[in-house]
Amino acid sequence: MSEAIRDQAHALLDRAERLGRGEVKRLARALDGEGSLPLREAVVAEARRRGVELPDEAAGWQGKRLLRLARGHEEAARVRTNPIMRDEAFTCLHCGAEVPPMGHTARDHCPHCLRSLHVDVVPGDRANPCGGLMDPVGVELAGERVTIHYRCRACGEQHRNKALLDGAQPDTWRAIVALSKGEG
Ligand SMILES: [Zn+2]
Ligand SMILES: [Zn+2]
Repeated sequence: MSEAIRDQAHALLDRAERLGRGEVKRLARALDGEGSLPLREAVVAEARRRGVELPDEAAGWQGKRLLRLARGHEEAARVRTNPIMRDEAFTCLHCGAEVPPMGHTARDHCPHCLRSLHVDVVPGDRANPCGGLMDPVGVELAGERVTIHYRCRACGEQHRNKALLDGAQPDTWRAIVALSKGEG
């Protein structure tokens, strides 16, 4: 798939997510023209990357139907408000630390280097196919709550995760302080 087509699909979906139904109809015409199958395939791929489940034959659908379903990302994410929180042991891909499960909530980052993986749509659901390594880029302190800001190396998406300050293996305070000084 060419990069230009992928960018075009990306832009189409971004617009479709913001538009009302009538406007989507107009936008969808770009998907129904002669020779637009590669673009429809790119839209299906991009929608899947954003967490929307579409069958393979979706690339053959009418543009209007395809865009309506492809833009369902937000709705789909909202339905999963009570995901099964998966709490698993893992080996950190950045620093190699063996990280045990938390026991009471889903652990989403390494307590040593604070790196995370882009695997969730809703925290703990492991439904995001991106899988990129997420770097901590900043930290926010509000009372006793510490929030770590992340950016995905693979897709650039930004996220926030709560720092884990207690439990069997809390986040290393030194790493949080370093991050707050911009040394993360
Ligand atoms: Zn690590
Ligand atoms: Zn990502």
